[in-house]
Amino acid sequence: MKRIYLDYAATTPTHPEVVTAMLPYFTESFGNASSIHSYGQEAKQALEEARSKVAALIGASSEEIVFTSGGTEADNSAIKGVAYANKSRGNHIITTAIEHHAVIESAEFMEHQGFEVTYLPVDEYGLVDPDDVRKAITRKTILISVMQANNEVGTIEPITGIGKIAREAGVYFHTDAVQAVGRIPVDVNELGVDLLSSSAHKLYGPNGVGILYIRKGTKLVPFMHGGEQEDGWRAGTHNIPGIVGFGKAAELAQQEMAGEAERLIVLRDRLISGLLERIEHAYLNGHPSQRLPNNVNISFKFVEGESILLNLDLEGISTSTGSACSSLSIEPSHVLLALGLPHEQAHCSMRFSLGKWTSQEDIDRVLEVTPKIISKLRAMSPLFKNTDRR
Ligand code: PLP
Repeated sequence: MKRIYLDYAATTPTHPEVVTAMLPYFTESFGNASSIHSYGQEAKQALEEARSKVAALIGASSEEIVFTSGGTEADNSAIKGVAYANKSRGNHIITTAIEHHAVIESAEFMEHQGFEVTYLPVDEYGLVDPDDVRKAITRKTILISVMQANNEVGTIEPITGIGKIAREAGVYFHTDAVQAVGRIPVDVNELGVDLLSSSAHKLYGPNGVGILYIRKGTKLVPFMHGGEQEDGWRAGTHNIPGIVGFGKAAELAQQEMAGEAERLIVLRDRLISGLLERIEHAYLNGHPSQRLPNNVNISFKFVEGESILLNLDLEGISTSTGSACSSLSIEPSHVLLALGLPHEQAHCSMRFSLGKWTSQEDIDRVLEVTPKIISKLRAMSPLFKNTDRR
């Protein structure tokens, strides 16, 4: 049986060219980038080349890129770093109800440290209203954090509009662009952000490496203390193979993103319309058009997401319920609840996320298998039997 991977939002396979680029940095050019000898200098050169490639992908300059261990560290660092550094100016943070846990839990942590946090609502499609951001700003607001694209439902947020508002108000603006970078165009100046998080493993790079973009002049406390790496922003010996991998992945993304997005949108829409046509009581979650090229999120009423996931897995198809993280908990996704879905419908959601190695044949197999699974599960579901299904 051919296995079909449709969980690219959770992580992507590392691109073979990325692996090839990384390999010499394990065994040949393995130096510590802080060492003065030639091994160290080779590593340092690779580090700076990777930095400029990642910077180019998001329209930043190299000095504004700080390498981290991933998106989670970047999000934590942005929120806590800005909050602690600017607490004399104010103690108010604005974010949204649909952020990734790395942002929401950092914000909640800061509430315990005496900060006030506003969690903005979203509309039924998961969109934040920039006007709500404007209205939430007070004299004490020091940071706004709104994700560029949602990891569960794929909705793309109006970041440019929010950026203008943040700038007018003189408030720092962070965006979690972990799901966006490499999938849709991201330019820190067009977006008007001061801080941006990205993670290599979402764009065919390795796990465990990310960046925090920090606009020149942004005031935040360094997040890791120790050596002088990353200009003092982030101490710790560099993960050179990982960073080189991120650089290569960024370079490939820049070359391939536009064509790949076009291809994926066709497959995405084929999957969405195919599932909605073939299965009754199925509803698309997220925005119909303002969504990531690779995201499909659908609620199949009367059946548990987990049951669908396990049945698809038996057919060799790997998907996710809501998000990889929420799959580990029995709580319905906070994102779907924020979109206004009732608990029972939030429990029936499946996320199919497409990527580089997804073919039309794969999509057609999902379209063949999923309706049979849903019918089988509904036949066993007391919820389905007890409804008049009007
Ligand atoms: N932010 C978003 C929107 C994500 O989707 C993820 C990962 O799924 C993260 C942050 C965390 O990134 P990482 O896995 O690199 O820690």
